[in-house]
Amino acid sequence: MTAKIIDGKSLAAQIREEVKSEVEKLKSEKGIVPGLGVILVGENPASKVYVRNKARACEHVGIYSETIKLHEDISEEELLNNVDKLNNREDIHGILVQLPLPEHINSEKILFAISPDKDVDGFHPINVGKLTTGEETFYPCTPSGIIEIIKRQGIEIKGKEAVIIGRSNIVGKPVAFLLLHNHATVTICHSRTVDLPKVAKRADILIAAVGKPLLVTDEYVKPGAIVIDVGINRIKKEDASEELLNWRKDAFEKRGSTLVGDVDFLKVKEIAGYLTPVPGGVGPLTVAMLMKNTLLSAKRFAQVK
Ligand code: NDP
Repeated sequence: MTAKIIDGKSLAAQIREEVKSEVEKLKSEKGIVPGLGVILVGENPASKVYVRNKARACEHVGIYSETIKLHEDISEEELLNNVDKLNNREDIHGILVQLPLPEHINSEKILFAISPDKDVDGFHPINVGKLTTGEETFYPCTPSGIIEIIKRQGIEIKGKEAVIIGRSNIVGKPVAFLLLHNHATVTICHSRTVDLPKVAKRADILIAAVGKPLLVTDEYVKPGAIVIDVGINRIKKEDASEELLNWRKDAFEKRGSTLVGDVDFLKVKEIAGYLTPVPGGVGPLTVAMLMKNTLLSAKRFAQVK
């Protein structure tokens, strides 16, 4: 079997187009432009790229976005004041504080200060609670992107055996709840799981959110399974196997490194039914779902269904 390789970029583009037309409708019918406020503290290069991508996506779909750039020495109190200003603004429906924050700042305290009604990342404990009880809320963007990927393949989740490797609060646990609410039978694995390949091989839907390059080989995969690779790992040329060097020759020549997932793509594509690549799989969906959450928030403010 050779897996169908899922094109996350085109799925994300589809979702952005859907959001764009709903944004236009909200503007013309209610005069409301959804607004996203992003707080960026310091000069972390990766954070700057993420924030820029989010701003570009907003521009594309017609969402107003404002990035508040703050110095990395900012005090916790000043940062809280900035969050509070966004909480009180009528033109801002979604608030995002880009992580990681500098060490002197208690990230939890900042994230908890965001109004749950504007928490488009879905990290506030009120929204986490609602996710676990199955109430409608803002679902975290990467997990809800994973659900979109599965559903948009025309795959029914109900009754499927789902195995998630990784139990983080931002990916593993929320995606487990979303799968459960969609009536999958769910197993969550982690670093202490005994005989991981055996457990993983039970899965009709296997999700790897670990952060360990190429951990999931064909030994972990049931023939025909849908395999979603969330991991993002950078491998330097000197650490790459001969096989990887050949496969990603161009990237190694250009940058001396390449991005890989938690799944050994070359091996697993021979056995899985569906497989997401890295890059170009789950990643693009994350930003698209942020657009969807911001639109949802604006619609709630406007009391539109
Ligand atoms: P965390 O480090 O928070 O969690 C990793 C999880 O993997 C933990 O639960 C850990 O277990 C488990 N784990 C570690 N080693 C093993 C192992 N050998 N076998 C089984 N389980 C193991 O990571 P995140 O959830 O934040 O992220 C996971 C990956 O996804 C990262 O590569 C990250 O970059 C990527 N990511 C991608 C996103 C995207 O948009 N595409 C968004 C968010 C993350 P334990 O709890 O026991 O320590």
